[in-house]
Amino acid sequence: MKKTPIIYGQTIDDQTRCKHYHSKRDIIAIKFRCCKKYYPCYQCHNEAEDHPIVVWERENFLEQAILCGVCKHELTINEYMNSERCPNCASEFNPGCATHYPLYFE
Ligand SMILES: [Zn+2]
Ligand SMILES: [Zn+2]
Ligand SMILES: [Zn+2]
Repeated sequence: MKKTPIIYGQTIDDQTRCKHYHSKRDIIAIKFRCCKKYYPCYQCHNEAEDHPIVVWERENFLEQAILCGVCKHELTINEYMNSERCPNCASEFNPGCATHYPLYFE
């Protein structure tokens, strides 16, 4: 079995919900390009790191940088942007996250 990546930040459960975002559908973590670490959200990143976020550029959208907190499947950024739910376990993603894309992606 593939090793599950470590999730950094202020998680409050084992499905990557954090103290900032913890609704039923907040079940993904994002790997940040700058430090290559998974955090549940940008606020978790900024509280733990002392560098600014470097967003993913379009040419990196085939990188696996999104983790489903329910089944721990890793999605590429492209897959994530084009899915409403996890392709592996069918858990629904939070559509509200789309408003935060500019914080993470070009
Ligand atoms: Zn970083
Ligand atoms: Zn957070
Ligand atoms: Zn899943």
